Amino acid sequence: RHTLQIRKKHCNPMTMKVTYYKKPVFIHQGYMQWLWDVDGKRYLDLFAGVATVSVGHCHPKVTAAAVQQLKRLWHTTNIYVYPPLHEYCEKLASYFPDPLKVIYLTNSGSEANDLAMLMARLHTGNFDIITFRGSYHGGSPQTMGLTSNAAYKYPIANGLGCTNTMCPDVFRGPWGGSHCRDSPVQTIRECSCAQAGKKCHCMANEQYIGQLKETFATSVPSRIAAFFGEPIQGVGGAVQYPKNYLKEAYKLVREKGGVCIADEVQTGFGRTGSHFWGFQGHDVIPDMVTMAKGIGNGFPMGAVVTTPEIAASFAKGVHFNTFGGNPVACAVASSVLDTITEDNTQQISLDVGTYLMTELAKLREKYEIIGDVRGKGLQIGVEMVKDKASREPLSPEAMNEIFEDIKDMGVLIGKGGIYGQTFRIKPPMCISMEDADFFMAVFNKSIHNYMERR
Ligand code: PMP
Repeated sequence: RHTLQIRKKHCNPMTMKVTYYKKPVFIHQGYMQWLWDVDGKRYLDLFAGVATVSVGHCHPKVTAAAVQQLKRLWHTTNIYVYPPLHEYCEKLASYFPDPLKVIYLTNSGSEANDLAMLMARLHTGNFDIITFRGSYHGGSPQTMGLTSNAAYKYPIANGLGCTNTMCPDVFRGPWGGSHCRDSPVQTIRECSCAQAGKKCHCMANEQYIGQLKETFATSVPSRIAAFFGEPIQGVGGAVQYPKNYLKEAYKLVREKGGVCIADEVQTGFGRTGSHFWGFQGHDVIPDMVTMAKGIGNGFPMGAVVTTPEIAASFAKGVHFNTFGGNPVACAVASSVLDTITEDNTQQISLDVGTYLMTELAKLREKYEIIGDVRGKGLQIGVEMVKDKASREPLSPEAMNEIFEDIKDMGVLIGKGGIYGQTFRIKPPMCISMEDADFFMAVFNKSIHNYMERR
């Protein structure tokens, strides 16, 4: 109670919103996929501090790397040649295809995206930047302009640099997302109903791509600096694109002189299971990739990787960042990369994620209010609706009831989507099949409880 009073007085709860506002959770400790509150109650953490704890809370190996570095050196800044920073850059660069080889280290995703915006503008000489509907790219004044969701923007006309960018309604599939209604485990990207001659409610991929082309022809300026796209939208509610959609967008962007930027803040580091980077699932090579969250397993860090050519255009001024590439951050991030390999977390993402998607799809058949199940690996969205026929989003009150019930039964998940209608599951990538079963039982019970009460 005292903590909540402090929060009210000193932390402005109007902007720093607490997720479980009926009965907030007071987190005390974490280990791997588990969190404990101050009373010792244990929670299965399926949100990972918003897709950030990649290999596990206080992972012993990563913690040891951090402690070792804390004892040796906390800080120098990059005006000195500090070998571990360079070793980390080389290691991170090895995870990217050519020509993505030049790395800038930052402290957050917003900062990485800010930097990418600047580089794109300097490189192309153009100004306008486009993103997709439902996107989230940060909360800094500049990146707020890239973020399409009005809830994260401040209502000041021409203010805060937001008008520099635009968010055309480039994409919206059925269910606010991407789902083939007739084949619960297939997304539109993978939907093969049409080819198989089956009746399908999905718009054909060509129709989506037609819409995209039309938007670029009619609403996008003739010259643009960049396009930012998440390979799978995170805050937007695990929204996926139809097959070849991103590839076509890249082509259209480049035709208008822009560079293509993949925001891998949520999708990177193996979260999508099938690939290390989300963009690899789209058969594209971006001109820049921005990352954060999972890079440091919760330690503040971000990065931009780009091409030598773009980096050369950027060399018109000095770029300085006091904490970017901080020795502790580099030690942690390096250990995270090793741990991803040693603990096989990308494979876990694929296996447990696919299992969860399949089980959730079964639950969708059972309950009228589960509209869509989508995502890839451990980046999963469950879109809740009033009923399947109307596809109207479930009300915020109903969402909260279910959400709080799940928490009371010992599981933390997230919420997102443009109407806040999508439950989001993006746990530390060390969860087990047993954890998945536990969540499925809890989720089933919470929806059952809600239906009973209704
Ligand atoms: N891009 C994406 C896709 C994100 O999800 C976020 C954070 N939710 C950001 C950028 C901004 O990252 P940060 O909060 O570290 O500034």
